[in-house]
Amino acid sequence: TRHLVLVLGDQLDRAASAFDGFDPAHDRVWMAEAAEESTHVVSAQQRTVLFLAAMRHFAQALRSEGLPLHYATLDDAANTGTLAGELARAIAQWQPQALVMTAPGDWRVLQALRAVARTHGLALDLRDDRHFYATVRDFAAHAAKRKALRMEWFYREMRQRHGVLLDADGQPEGGRWNFDAENRESFGTQGPPPELRAPLRFEPDAVTREVIALVQQRFGHHPGQAEPFGWPVTRADALAALQDFIAHRLPHFGRWQDALWAGEPWLFHAHLSAALNLKLLNPREVVDAAVAAYHAGQAPLAGVEGFVRQILGWREYVRGIYWTQMPGYLDRNALGAEQPLPAFYWTGDTPAACLRDAIGQTLRLGYAHHIQRLMVTGLFALLLGVRPQAVHAWYLGVYVDAVEWVELPNTLGMSQFADGGPDGGLALGQGLMASKPYAATGKYLQRMGNHCQDCRFRPDRASGDDACPFTTLYWDFLERHEAALAANPRMALQVKNLARRSEAERTAVRARADAIRAGQVL
Ligand code: FAD
Repeated sequence: TRHLVLVLGDQLDRAASAFDGFDPAHDRVWMAEAAEESTHVVSAQQRTVLFLAAMRHFAQALRSEGLPLHYATLDDAANTGTLAGELARAIAQWQPQALVMTAPGDWRVLQALRAVARTHGLALDLRDDRHFYATVRDFAAHAAKRKALRMEWFYREMRQRHGVLLDADGQPEGGRWNFDAENRESFGTQGPPPELRAPLRFEPDAVTREVIALVQQRFGHHPGQAEPFGWPVTRADALAALQDFIAHRLPHFGRWQDALWAGEPWLFHAHLSAALNLKLLNPREVVDAAVAAYHAGQAPLAGVEGFVRQILGWREYVRGIYWTQMPGYLDRNALGAEQPLPAFYWTGDTPAACLRDAIGQTLRLGYAHHIQRLMVTGLFALLLGVRPQAVHAWYLGVYVDAVEWVELPNTLGMSQFADGGPDGGLALGQGLMASKPYAATGKYLQRMGNHCQDCRFRPDRASGDDACPFTTLYWDFLERHEAALAANPRMALQVKNLARRSEAERTAVRARADAIRAGQVL
């Protein structure tokens, strides 16, 4: 064999650079299912099913195209359980002259595969990942030009460079770069409009059913459930999911992007992150489809711009942060948070209605939308002071779209505000992902959704038996970090409000916060 061409579970793209120059007469594709990928952090059953089912479908497509393929299954008795072990086994069998791959998404995986190549004295030809609009070099060049990193500046540069949502003069469509302010409505008291309907889900075929059975047998003790399973696992399914979003949800996406509603897990979101992260979909085709819907008058500019910003802006930005900050990023803990993750994150068994709903659907479906991740489960962990690495392990394990390069900056940086501090070259009080912590009381949740109506806690109370834990912990958080946060101009108002609170109020909050931390409330 000339080249062993390595394809990982999140690289399921036949157009990837790894396949450039592939010669079926001399080269062979290598794919491997490794138990370690489901255990290095505990992976929820739904997430493992997604990866294995998508990998097996991709392998099937390669085989039917006639490409030579080495595919190691999880249930093969000789499987070593690690990607490194499986690669070593394949090298022994095929004696390749070199290894070829598209740069992997995860730092840990890159180190492991590099080590195998080194041990065997083989060259590893790492190729740029064309899936992304920007290379990591592009991002580093952008970062080098600036004193402080902000997603917004990067996003504008990307819009210009790639000609997305620009008018004939090269100005932003509609005269503004950012329509965020129009994308923050709640559903009021009535709830979602009748246009809300169930998204397209995909009935598992024989291949996926086999994977579901395998996961139940091997990882049945892992969190969540393998069934019902309805995520796209082939490119054809992913394209159908994209069309379903563009036609039925994009028209309403922007307006209610930040809204919550009890018992409604999907709302008007895309549910395309898993297909994108496994590379079943290309971000360009997703962005182009959204922009085309705007030009066809099928979706308003504010919503389309908001959607494009998530993909062309945030998704590319977090990848740049990850690859320019690793491996030190994993250990950041700017606020010195050391609490363990509450046990109810693994069961959803808690009296707080918003947490119960967000965690429950996460374990059931492998999905929660952005505001649930950021302002329910993320906010609670931030305010409680949970060790960021424990929060990271949870997010990486439970979501179908969780891959470290995108999950880690969102969790550790955006939601836990752990990436500030001297290591980042920034004063404490500023982060790489967020310019201030996303700290809020229960009143934010009350405004954005309806969970508080059926919850025994009151968002307007900070202390006492019926105080909302978010509200208690918000004031406690401000107090614990008052000095650091005072250095951040964007926190000035919040810090000033804290200063107005009486010593009696502070004492009552502290007592209640201690009870929450001791597990006596939730
Ligand atoms: P939509 O709301 O419809 O957004 C459209 C697309 O934009 C998404 O499919 C996604 O590809 C992209 N996108 C949106 N927000 C972000 C963001 N902040 N960063 C990167 N891409 C974004 N996203 C992941 O893909 N994997 C993760 O593991 C992940 N972990 C997260 C952890 C936390 C604590 C937070 C706050 C956010 C996380 N996100 C993650 C970002 C975001 O919440 C999800 O991308 C989104 O909820 C996926 O659902 P959707 O496809 O319906 O997204």
